[in-house]
Amino acid sequence: MTVLRKNLIDGEWLGEAGSRNVNPSNTNDVLGEYASAGPEEAKQAIAAAKAAFPAWSRSGPLARHAVLKKTSDEIMARKDEIGRSLAREEGKTLAEGVGETIRAAQLFDFFAGETLRLSGEMVPSVRPGVGVEMTREGVGVVGLITPWNFPIAIPAWKIAPALAYGNTIVFKPAELVPESAWTIVDILHRAGLPKGVLNLVMGKGSVVGQAMLDSPDINAISFTGSVGTGKRVAAASVEHMRKFQLEMGGKNPLVVLDDADLGTAVDCAINGAYFSTGQRCTASSRLIVTDGIHDRFVDAMKERLDKLVIGDALDAKTQIGPVVDQSQLKQDEDYIAIGRQEGAELAFGGERLERETPGFYLRPALFLGSTNAMRISREEIFGPVANVIRVKDYDEALAVANDTPFGLTSGICTTSLKHATHFKRNSEAGMVMVNLPTAGVDFHVPFGGRKGSSYGPREQGRYAMEFYTTVKTAYTFAG
Ligand code: NAD
Repeated sequence: MTVLRKNLIDGEWLGEAGSRNVNPSNTNDVLGEYASAGPEEAKQAIAAAKAAFPAWSRSGPLARHAVLKKTSDEIMARKDEIGRSLAREEGKTLAEGVGETIRAAQLFDFFAGETLRLSGEMVPSVRPGVGVEMTREGVGVVGLITPWNFPIAIPAWKIAPALAYGNTIVFKPAELVPESAWTIVDILHRAGLPKGVLNLVMGKGSVVGQAMLDSPDINAISFTGSVGTGKRVAAASVEHMRKFQLEMGGKNPLVVLDDADLGTAVDCAINGAYFSTGQRCTASSRLIVTDGIHDRFVDAMKERLDKLVIGDALDAKTQIGPVVDQSQLKQDEDYIAIGRQEGAELAFGGERLERETPGFYLRPALFLGSTNAMRISREEIFGPVANVIRVKDYDEALAVANDTPFGLTSGICTTSLKHATHFKRNSEAGMVMVNLPTAGVDFHVPFGGRKGSSYGPREQGRYAMEFYTTVKTAYTFAG
């Protein structure tokens, strides 16, 4: 029997089957049917969140702590089941699916703790007898719009701080991954959230997402997704004078210097470029390698690429799952063709693979002989495709690394303290890694980038407070 997942609006599960959720490892496998909200349902969800805000914003830390902690505990207890379902709908491996689910539990746990640590400041006024207090309050109704590539972690790192700081929510997940979104909302609902505090509106971006952008009753929008949609969010938010936060694409460089440990460099490049099928905003898609290590690095990369197991996400042996869907697969293949036309040498992979079940399998691709001016170096591909850019020394490597419209993460593999220190200071990215993959971050520290990758305050850690609260300055004359 096919499951039917409905939207949660004002505490009620509503809606009819509108879309199907297909497993990218086996397109004959359908996870279930999902409601698809229209503009009317979006309006109802926004109205419910607006009505729920006054009480929730004054509910105090204990009520919020209880819901967030209970949610964390249930996610952790069900990590294998939820992680498996995530791998089934998105195509990342079982280990990655479970790892992401554990991350979601950790995020709820972290923000459960933060509810009890909210503080303000009290200072003397410059006027005699007057006291000044600075406090933080929830912003109001927040719209959360999320992409498909981290189906549970990204919703968790938005929903948890939004609730912790007293906001109410209209949550619109990506169409491709509704099961993880539904699961997290179901857990929060059963954990005891009052009606209207969290509303789920699954559906099309152009319909339900657009209705959220157009609403004067959404006070802030946190968006993660592509640059194109991010610009729409920005324009609509300025129109409504609302707060907004954008996390978008990346074209992240991994620099490998002559003095790098070769094993570490190859581990970082294979993980950063190809794990999660390269579908991470933090993926290292540009491998910038100095002359002295270039040939050894390339040989070792080809050897490792040849051993990677590409297959069904649910098979425990699989290291690289399928691409998420047909249209992303086409985008990857189009960029592989563009790279060849531009004169880069396709040194490994790039072809479709057949497996026992019909799915979107692509052999990870490595280009050599590319320049930083090529489109494959400048545009986000968002698949298992990376290109090596050969440079003469550290100075050229840094210049190439920074020559990009994006600025999310960057990495360097080196045993030189001098170069590592210089790179950390001079890399134009929001997150910098030394002898670590460009992807893979902690949950208790800020996440975000610069330039075309991000806009607005950072997400995660205590920095999340910047976006999800607004400051009030109150003056009191005691007489
Ligand atoms: P997308 O922009 O197509 O969609 C993101 C979300 O926006 C989806 O929920 C979609 O339905 C919604 N949307 C689409 N049109 C809309 C509209 N007109 N109004 C409102 N909402 C609308 O992105 P995607 O393909 O789901 O995700 C991939 C992108 O996300 C990549 O560019 C990737 O780099 C980026 N990403 C960034 C980060 C980060 O933190 N920087 C993290 C993960 C993914």
